[in-house]
Amino acid sequence: MSNKLIQIYFPEEGDGIDLIFSYLGLSYKRIGKINSLKKSNIFICQEDKFKENAPHIKRFIESGGNILLIPRSIKKIKNRDYLHKNILIKRNRVYLLRYNIFEIFEILSKDEKGLFNSGKFKRRFPIDSLLYDIAISFQGALFKLDKIQFFKWFWPRDLESAIILSHDVDTANELNDGIPKFRKLEKRMRYNSVWFFRPGDRYEIYPSMLKQMIKEGCEIGLHAINDAYKNKKILTAQKHFIENKMGEKIKGVRNHCLVREVLTTQRVEKDSGFLYESNIPDTDNCVPNYENRGCTFFYPYNLNGVTIFPLTLHDWCFVSGNKFPDKKSMKMYLQKLKYINSKNGLMTSLFHAADYMSGGKRLWMYEKFLNKIPKMKNMWVDLPSNIYLWNKRRNSIKFNVNINEEGIKIEFINGVCTLAMPVSLDNQIKRNISFSYRNKNLLFKIKKIDRYVLFCFKKC
Ligand SMILES: [Zn+2]
Repeated sequence: MSNKLIQIYFPEEGDGIDLIFSYLGLSYKRIGKINSLKKSNIFICQEDKFKENAPHIKRFIESGGNILLIPRSIKKIKNRDYLHKNILIKRNRVYLLRYNIFEIFEILSKDEKGLFNSGKFKRRFPIDSLLYDIAISFQGALFKLDKIQFFKWFWPRDLESAIILSHDVDTANELNDGIPKFRKLEKRMRYNSVWFFRPGDRYEIYPSMLKQMIKEGCEIGLHAINDAYKNKKILTAQKHFIENKMGEKIKGVRNHCLVREVLTTQRVEKDSGFLYESNIPDTDNCVPNYENRGCTFFYPYNLNGVTIFPLTLHDWCFVSGNKFPDKKSMKMYLQKLKYINSKNGLMTSLFHAADYMSGGKRLWMYEKFLNKIPKMKNMWVDLPSNIYLWNKRRNSIKFNVNINEEGIKIEFINGVCTLAMPVSLDNQIKRNISFSYRNKNLLFKIKKIDRYVLFCFKKC
């Protein structure tokens, strides 16, 4: 029985490892030098680094340490089923992952064109679980090295998943005709949403309108245009334009046509004072220049200091050019809603209040979609700025795990979880576990554990 420190030797930030650990709610430590490895823990490194530092690593293994080794080349992935099988080759205390997580994440976060248009990395639509599958496989790998893992529950309290309702306002028609229709529907069903406005190139924005929407409980964001995605001066000017109209600060941005240069765009957004953005779809089948790209992830994650809410339901991908019959689109909307709910993910929907949606025959689709939300298992509907705050809080909660004969003591360093719930336990294991609080710290007593146990902290 143990809980081992996960140490990673991969000095560059932005390699995607944050993304997977944020999903898993696990903590880890990046180390800059291999000779500073702490004994008896878990160490993750790339194959070539392993060779370079062989004497240190040998000593580490001899001290009881375990190694997860990442192969150099992604070419080892034959197909996706491979992720599930044979994830590890056990060689004493060294486990070789059968895929290069660093490289996969690097590619995913760079979102490069071309790579995803053909062959094995073509995104599936409307659901692609590639990154989710990798995260789960990776969790499985960690379990092989340490039977007990702790993680933070995804959402506050007993909530199972979350949803953000968003709209881009692209035309004067949407402003004058679409917004009133959409808001009427949302108000009747008691939903509030975030509206991304363009900086004055296509329609005039009336401050009274924005203020009224905020008063009703909506959030206003920027729908950035032109070169704003790569130029701080332009992006800041567009942000100020909207802020001057609404009389308060803007927190989030989505670029027109999802135009982006992943990492550069987030750096520019951060420098311009944005907290979150929603430019990266999980999977995309039609946005010009970006089709078949996306992060295949449906959890919030951070890139270059900005929180990403992956766009998971984009009406344009379904209804533009009548790509799918409305009934089929509707079926896929609900299928995806259900899927993300079942995986404890975050759904971010984008319905344009445009002619083809509200003025025409399709407002019923949004209504039907909204109608289904209460039927999902404990789905949290909120504004992106609130989900941003929660995500920040979840990431900041840190805890130490001490294991001795008394039991397992969980010490919260930053933030406190008021209830811990062991999950993935059958009744027999549950009978062997009890937990209590001492000075806000949790004490687990475990009589016997002979299989893998995943603890999670709920009700944070
Ligand atoms: Zn747009």
